[in-house]
Amino acid sequence: MSYTGSKPLTEVCRRVLASGELPDNGGDRPQLVLTVDYDGLAQRTGSGLLDNGATLTPETVRRIACDAQVIPAVLGGDGQLLDLGRTRRLINGALRRALVLRDRGCAFPGCDRPPRWCQGHHIRHWADGGPTDLDNAVLLCGHHHRVVHQDDWQVRLGHDRRPEFIPPSYVDAARLPRRNTFHLRP
Ligand SMILES: [Zn+2]
Ligand SMILES: [Zn+2]
Repeated sequence: MSYTGSKPLTEVCRRVLASGELPDNGGDRPQLVLTVDYDGLAQRTGSGLLDNGATLTPETVRRIACDAQVIPAVLGGDGQLLDLGRTRRLINGALRRALVLRDRGCAFPGCDRPPRWCQGHHIRHWADGGPTDLDNAVLLCGHHHRVVHQDDWQVRLGHDRRPEFIPPSYVDAARLPRRNTFHLRP
């Protein structure tokens, strides 16, 4: 990739290889390196380039960059590492445990997936200035993580600071918030 003077920063999202950094969501150890222009990520227009040469759509880039397993590294135009972004953008450690205690599984209405199937989702994407804390995070399985990024469902925390989902008008014309009560069963 080439860098211009107006876009000196490039966001390199690197899947963590050290198993100690990975949240408990099962499956293979990811080995993906994603390079995307930071401005394109923030403006939802940037496609991504994988290290095997494949390109990704802007929606997929934002979902992967949202994923708890990604460490984004901000590089300067000279290739020097400026910020590894670990503590600010990763939903892991104590935050992951608090999220599991609150949501107990995928928080999408009706989903029965347990925490080990789930990823942390930033309700407001970190590329848009969203913080990495409990009030900006929700636990979602891989399928519903894609749904939330690709479809018109909106996520928010209710008055009790628990997640609720507002369906698009083609699902519910009144757009009444829905919650997942599956994981609250005794
Ligand atoms: Zn997400
Ligand atoms: Zn789900």
